[in-house]
Amino acid sequence: MSAMKLTDVHVHLAAFPVPGNGCLLSPRMRKSALFKMVAASQGLPLRDAELSNRAYVERLKAELAGSDSVGRAVILGMDGAYDESGDLDDEHTDFLISNDYVFEAASFFPGRFLPGVSINPQRAGAIDELQRCSEKGAVLVKILANSQRFDPADRRYRPFYRAMARLRLPLLAHVGYEFSLIGRDQGAGDADRLVPALEEGVVVIAAHGCSTGLFFWEKNWPVARYLAARFSNFYMDVSAMTLPNRVGGLMRLRRHPELFSRLLFGTDYPLPVFSYPCLLAGARQDFRQARTASNRFDRQARVLGALGIRLEKDFTDIIKA
Ligand SMILES: [Zn+2]
Repeated sequence: MSAMKLTDVHVHLAAFPVPGNGCLLSPRMRKSALFKMVAASQGLPLRDAELSNRAYVERLKAELAGSDSVGRAVILGMDGAYDESGDLDDEHTDFLISNDYVFEAASFFPGRFLPGVSINPQRAGAIDELQRCSEKGAVLVKILANSQRFDPADRRYRPFYRAMARLRLPLLAHVGYEFSLIGRDQGAGDADRLVPALEEGVVVIAAHGCSTGLFFWEKNWPVARYLAARFSNFYMDVSAMTLPNRVGGLMRLRRHPELFSRLLFGTDYPLPVFSYPCLLAGARQDFRQARTASNRFDRQARVLGALGIRLEKDFTDIIKA
């Protein structure tokens, strides 16, 4: 593998709960359109949970191994919602991928799958879990505040952010509306809620180029520019930005080369990656090549290239820095 290959910082795991894996999937989630779409597109054998879980990881491994441009993927956990006393709130947790499952999955492709754990700072023992995950080789912490039902700006979480900074664990934060899961406090996805983590010195990566995901209304865009100007530890990933509701954000980003040094590669796998943004940029040949790419990683790289979005940094540069 060439050292020049990119790292995808935003790849989701999906797993059925089976004894010992610590994962959860609510009946509501099982019935959702997203769940059905992922199961169908990944060809999961749903009658057998254990087999399905294995098939998901194997397919991801094959797709990554087949990529010419991407060499590593940060595979993500998904913590649940917690109540005021820090106990898991089952009723409001639709989907949970445990950190132990993340480490187990990462062991299927050593050095190429990088464990991206998820820790809700509201959970009891959150800092101990940070420490444990750091010792096991976690490379970042993912949060999805809308669904995990906490406010990232709450001052009670500052010690958690300080511990992250000390352990040099970046924070990958979902920004904007949350369609995929069943979000409640959509305001928890506002980019300005990330300021306390940035102030504590955490490297923060705002997902999806900080786009809101509401087609043309982009309240997070001025905030993203402000955060980039104020904090050298602020980054954005470009995941999911070929989706129709975020493509406006992608077309805007290409006009801001001053932000390219703050962009990191990402797909939001298993969500689809579309080729049509090449056409919006008048790049017909890239469109054909992107469309026929054998994997989503190369397709995303091709689209970014066609749009002239040069990624100046890789995730591995940031964690080494
Ligand atoms: Zn995602």
